[in-house]
Amino acid sequence: MGTPTLGNPQNTIAVLQKYNFSFQKKFGQNFLIDTHVLDKIIRAAGITKDDMVLEIGPGIGTMTQYLAEAAGKVTAVEIDKNLIPILEDTLSEYDNVTIINEDVLKLDIRRLADDENQGRPIKVVANLPYYITTPIIMGLFENHVPMESITVMVQKEVADRMQTGPGSKDYGALSLAVQYYAEPYIVANVPPNCFMPRPRVGSAVIRLTCHKQPPVEVKDEKLMFDIIRASFNQRRKTLANGLKNSDKLKYSREEIEEAIQSLGKGASVRGEALTLEEFAALSNRLCGLS
Ligand code: SAM
Repeated sequence: MGTPTLGNPQNTIAVLQKYNFSFQKKFGQNFLIDTHVLDKIIRAAGITKDDMVLEIGPGIGTMTQYLAEAAGKVTAVEIDKNLIPILEDTLSEYDNVTIINEDVLKLDIRRLADDENQGRPIKVVANLPYYITTPIIMGLFENHVPMESITVMVQKEVADRMQTGPGSKDYGALSLAVQYYAEPYIVANVPPNCFMPRPRVGSAVIRLTCHKQPPVEVKDEKLMFDIIRASFNQRRKTLANGLKNSDKLKYSREEIEEAIQSLGKGASVRGEALTLEEFAALSNRLCGLS
């Protein structure tokens, strides 16, 4: 243990050269090279020695070093086998880090949390590969992985979508899903020059503090999310038409219109105008009808 050796451009370049590493675009590899941003992520995640942290995509181990200093233990899941010998080198000083060479989307993370942390909530911290941000976050929530928080670097536009409410163009199924499971808070915007290579888009660090209880009561979660997806699949259509056209929902036009009216909304309302509370009420009204 000691001070992290990575986090600045010179040391990152030295490691990459030592191993003759070439970036793989298909894995979304944009490595962090800014110590201020790294400090900010660790602070925002509020890690203590009591915590088990899951890091998704450690890269060459830059953030992993910071996490290992702050946490009790760190499990890092990396898909690229070429990075494994590098990680073994950059993390050799740390005895509280486990590296798993796997695709995170194929890993049973709930089981991992149960085995490694006796089912106590873990903290997820990552500079995520942007091409799979949504499946990773939705997978963590939908599989009910016991978690206190998720603190991640994502594309700026995706962070905005997670945090926004009705009336914004960014509002959609991701906003509602994230806000059902957690309270989002954008910690910082991060420009492309904090990464190597530079991504083409702006980034943001977002902290999702997981709810102990969902903020709304829902009789059938799956039905509510089917309704949400159907409402946003056809953004230009009215909510009633969106629900009527969905393959997954089998309600009659009358049932749908009656349920929408029960919210005090007119027939022409669009899904993007509904709050999470209203989607919960709508799905509770429709639940059990057919
Ligand atoms: N944490 C490092 C950093 O901040 O410098 C690297 C972040 S980079 C944006 C994303 C990392 O996720 C890469 O190391 C990439 O190889 C890894 N990755 C991509 N797809 C993955 C997957 N399906 N499962 C696990 N790791 C993945």
